[in-house]
Amino acid sequence: MRNYFIKTKRAFTPIRQYAWIFTLTVAIGGLWYPRLGILVFGVIFALTAISLFKGRFWCGNYCAHGSLFDQLFLPFSRNQKIPGFLKSKYTQIAVMTWFMYNLGSKFYRVSQIWGTLQFWDRLGFVFVSSYLMVTVVGGLLGLIYTPRSWCQFCPMGTMQVLMYKLGKKLGWTKQHDQKITIEALEKCHKCGKCARVCPMQLVPYTEFSDKNQFDREACIRCITCVDNCPAKLLTLATADEAAAKLHHRDFRGYENRQRFLAVIKTVADLAPDIREFTLELVDPPTSSIQPGQYFLLRIQAQPEMFRAYSVSAKTSPGVVRVTVKRVQNGYGTSIIFESFTVGMEVVLEGPMGHELLLDPSARKILLIAGGIGITPFVPILQHLVETGTETTLVYGANTEGEFIFDDLLCSLATESSSITYIKVAANPSNSYKGRKGLVTDEIKRLTLKGYKVYMCGPKGMVEASTRLLLELGVSASDISAESA
Ligand SMILES: Cc1cc2nc3c(=O)[nH]c(=O)nc-3n(C[C@H](O)[C@H](O)[C@H](O)COP(=O)(O)OP(=O)(O)OC[C@H]3O[C@@H](n4cnc5c(N)ncnc54)[C@H](O)[C@@H]3O)c2cc1C
Ligand code: SF4
Ligand code: SF4
Repeated sequence: MRNYFIKTKRAFTPIRQYAWIFTLTVAIGGLWYPRLGILVFGVIFALTAISLFKGRFWCGNYCAHGSLFDQLFLPFSRNQKIPGFLKSKYTQIAVMTWFMYNLGSKFYRVSQIWGTLQFWDRLGFVFVSSYLMVTVVGGLLGLIYTPRSWCQFCPMGTMQVLMYKLGKKLGWTKQHDQKITIEALEKCHKCGKCARVCPMQLVPYTEFSDKNQFDREACIRCITCVDNCPAKLLTLATADEAAAKLHHRDFRGYENRQRFLAVIKTVADLAPDIREFTLELVDPPTSSIQPGQYFLLRIQAQPEMFRAYSVSAKTSPGVVRVTVKRVQNGYGTSIIFESFTVGMEVVLEGPMGHELLLDPSARKILLIAGGIGITPFVPILQHLVETGTETTLVYGANTEGEFIFDDLLCSLATESSSITYIKVAANPSNSYKGRKGLVTDEIKRLTLKGYKVYMCGPKGMVEASTRLLLELGVSASDISAESA
């Protein structure tokens, strides 16, 4: 079953990992020692002060209840969509009003015993009972919906938004307010991962401003989206830092990105979980694709979401061929495998990408592919056969049944003496006669002097191969990689 929302690490600092201890100390320890509740005055003071400069930064970075929800409740949460009414302004106003009334009346009653021995216990208990209530109600909502459900209408969150508005009016946020910032909109894959991991269920990639910032006041600056963006495009930055990024942004390889309407002309199964799609461009009818580039294929319209697929064959300018490997429980590949059929209209964006664009001055080229990472190297190799550039392709797969395009690659290597094709299987059957092992085993056997290296494959393979290449003396500037 595919789930839109993804559970992923949310605690990047020791405070976020362990602040929940404070919540339990006050909420449970306070039942025996109510004066612990007085510590909450410090919390309210700190979050109010910070929100004047940085919005809801407290919620994503220091909040002890937030830490409790993210650390202890996330593993057991159903992690489902938060119902609209919990997010609505009316709920926020109603809860805030009730909270102020409740707190105000309790303070009034406690003030009646000012000067007595009981005063401090009774004052502390006002906060102990609130902490306990938030733990129970927030915890239940966290289990039923998603851990940060309470945060949608938390009175402290609402108060921080009000203080933030005041801070903006006073000009105090300008230097300090760090917002989620995208390096270059042109490079965004519109994959939706930033939205799928967001604890607050926000949708940053559809809402970046023309200043490349995400302005939603509900954002708690937790950087979960930053950590999970597969294109590594996101940071937390002030307005000035964002302006500098916008000014210096590098979007080479993305200049020709545009939207296409296309029709699926053929669908072919290359292996049990690998399918090749031939797409005919309709509007506009042609595109200028360079070998090594990729297209984004739209998998759903609302919210609009795409998946990146490398162009896997050199074709005419009006045709794009992509090859998709099904990921177990993958959100996008499930949709593609279940509903993309011949004759269907699809939306594409591209061509994009500069990581695998060949350096025209390169005299010797090493291509390293892992699994489905072979796809961009098919048109690259077809191009290199034409130019006669000395090329070695090392292609690793888990089993021999997973080598796709093998016949084509063998025939290119036979046709051109400048191409060397090495394939290696990590876990082949006993009857397999070819090379066994990892791509790194094969790299060790090569003489690498003067080579430019291009890699594509799983993150682990790319990282291990990069380490090895650097150890073997290849300079970092001669290595380019893309993780599929
Ligand atoms: C530049 C580029 C080129 C690419 N080219 C190709 C190509 O040619 N062919 C190809 O097949 N792929 C290619 N990819 C990968 C492709 O874009 C998709 O990422 C891939 O198809 C998986 O999509 P998905 O939506 O099915 O998986 P997703 O649902 O996005 O899942 C991806 C991973 O996230 C994790 N995950 C997902 N859901 C959850 C959950 N609920 N809880 C915890 N973890 C979860 C899983 O580890 C899963 O493996 C390319 C990627 C890039 C960036
Ligand atoms: S996670 Fe995906 S959609 Fe979000 S900013 Fe990164 S590339 Fe764009
Ligand atoms: S948009 Fe990013 S920083 Fe803001 S709440 Fe969502 S995941 Fe956290």
